[in-house]
Parts: sequence; C-alpha cells; structure tokens
Amino acid sequence: MSVWDDLIGQEELVASLQVSVAAAASALKGERSGAAMTHAWLFTGPPGSGRSNAARAFAAALQCERGGCGECLACRTTVAGSNADVTSLITEQSVIRTDAAREAVRMAALSPANRRWQIMIVEDADRLHERAADALLKSLEEPAPRTVWLLCAPTVQDVVPTIRSRCRPLVLRTPPTAAVADYLVRRDRVPSAVATFAARASQGHIGRARALARDEATRNRRREVLRIPTQLSDLGSCMTSAANLSEAATEEAKPRSDTLDAKELADLELAYGGGRGGQATGFAAARKELQRDQKQRAKRLVKDSIDRSLLDLASFYRDVVAVQLGAVGGLVNEELRQDIDTLARATSGEVTTQRLGAIFNTRELLETEVAPLLALESLMISLRGAPTQ
Ligand SMILES: [Zn+2]
Repeated sequence: MSVWDDLIGQEELVASLQVSVAAAASALKGERSGAAMTHAWLFTGPPGSGRSNAARAFAAALQCERGGCGECLACRTTVAGSNADVTSLITEQSVIRTDAAREAVRMAALSPANRRWQIMIVEDADRLHERAADALLKSLEEPAPRTVWLLCAPTVQDVVPTIRSRCRPLVLRTPPTAAVADYLVRRDRVPSAVATFAARASQGHIGRARALARDEATRNRRREVLRIPTQLSDLGSCMTSAANLSEAATEEAKPRSDTLDAKELADLELAYGGGRGGQATGFAAARKELQRDQKQRAKRLVKDSIDRSLLDLASFYRDVVAVQLGAVGGLVNEELRQDIDTLARATSGEVTTQRLGAIFNTRELLETEVAPLLALESLMISLRGAPTQ
C-alpha cells in the first residue's frame, strides 16, 4: 500500500513524481541533488482524471519520511486533509476570493510544524482571477524555502498566464477503462459487470464512474438521458425531453446546494456571534453577499448536472458515428447497440456530426447566462431537426 494507489492509470506521472519526491528529500537533507527544489507545481488533466488526488498524494509523499508509505501519520493525515502543514484552498464558488488567497499566502509563509514542507494545495486554480492571482504571485515567485504550492486546473490555458508561467506543469491522462473498472472492484467492491459498465459509461471520469457504480438513481438518470435520441419525434416530444432533462438536473443539484447553503449560513452566524438577527454589525450585509453567491452556485450546480447529461448524450451520438464509419470494437453504450444501429442506418455521418456539434455548442452556451431550459429546447429541436444536406 502507498499513497499512489488511488491514482488510476497514471503510471508515468507517478514515476516522475517519485523522482521529484526523492529530490525533495535530498534537498531537505541539504544534499546537492543537481536541481533545486521546485516550489510551484501545476497539475492538469481532464475532469475526473484525479488532479486533486494526485496533488494530495504528492503532498503526502513529500511529508512522509519514507516517500509516501501510505501508513505513517504524515501520509494518513495528509490524505485525510487534516495535516497541519498541508492547507487546501478550496472554493465552492465560481471564483476564489481575494481575502482567501491572501490568507493562503500568509499560511504559506509559516514554518512547517513537522520540519519538512509547508504545502498549499489550490484545487481550482482556474478560479483564481485578477486580484486573487496577484495576491499569490509573490509567494509563487519568491517562496519561503520550505513552501510548496500545488495548483490544479483542467488545462494550463485555464490558469492566468502570470501564475502558470511560474509553475512546473504535470499532466494527468484520461484513465483507461480497464484501470477504472479494476479500481471500482478493488476500492468499492462493486460487482465486476457493474464496474465494467460504469467505467465504460463514464469514459475515464473516476468520480462519475463511482457514482454510476454505486448509485442506482445516477444510473437511472443516465438511462433516461440516453432514451432521448429515439424519442424526438415531434416538437412536443422535444419540449418534453428538454423539460425532463432540466428538471432532473435541478433535482440532482438541490440536495447538495441545500447542504452547502445551510452550512455556510451557520458558519456565518457563528462568525457574527450567534446570528441574532441583524444586531451584529455587518451581519446583514454579509448574509446578503453570501446569499448572492449561493444563488450563483445553485445555478452552476444545475448546469454542471446538465453538462454531465450532455456528455452522456454526446457519447450516444459518437457511438452512432462509429457505427456509420464502420469502426470495429466496443461502443461506449454497448447495451443500446440496437438503437444506435437503427439511428446509424436512418441518418448519415454528416447529420450525426452536426448533432454532435449542436451538443457541444449547447455545452458552451450553458457557460453563459442563458436560461438552461431554452438552450435545451433549442438543442432538442436540432437533434430532431430535418437534416440539411
Ligand atoms: Zn508515510
């Protein structure tokens, strides 16, 4: 067992991190190991590939006397998120606030309690905008000798240039299906057939694979989404499919929104001395600001859920293209092969490609202020739409 065990299908990355851990250990001992310690790293990789897990495993290995044994106190506390010398800057909001970034910089400058490293993990470095990014710059540029920053983002381009240019990049790949399935069996004791299905359907997104493997409601939602392509017969069915998808997303997002909202409000009330109405100075204003942020987040969680459905939908049309091109090998949605074959025969590859384009346009559109239902209605119409050839 080691801290690297939960990094799925990242053998190359792990090998390179292990070299860096050894170099860091030499740096701690004051040996000259050729290269000096790198103080800022940027983990990038597709959503669900395990960026923040990789950062956390690396942090544990840096804090461990044995390079990441997975068993000692340093390893266990780092992985559990309770190590005093490993701080995570996480946000549930769409941007990292400047005061949170400043606080992280202050923490980063402290000497580590364990005499090894003071490690700062920024899980969503793509949410560092302008002033928050500026607040971090100096600490990245001239770090304290024992400070290590581990930033995570989907791609290097998602991080503001001033920040990314000061980090050493590390790239995770999309984990292979077999590795994900194996992990689900090993870690969650999921039956092998379910694990194989979940790994295939999630296309390398580990969190999604685990949700599909363990939660029947998630599997049912996905099944509903994949029925859409065969149901779009007329305008009415397009509207119904859009409404159903939108409602399912709202339902999926709500429990998480509610839990986060309640906790944040409780924290705020505590910070303002028990929250007795608006008596504490500034409480009302702070609550108003919190509520505004929470409303934004609630919208984002709904859009995230819709986005997952759109990816499922895209996987269906990709399968259709694969059949139309006569590709050999398995489909992502093997269990729907009959529907896929039927649609493949009824349309051309060009039409299917247009439909895939419409799905990806809708994903982009959802990043804007558009009303999700409207975007989905228009998508459903173009998925049914008379092919232009
Ligand atoms: Zn250890």
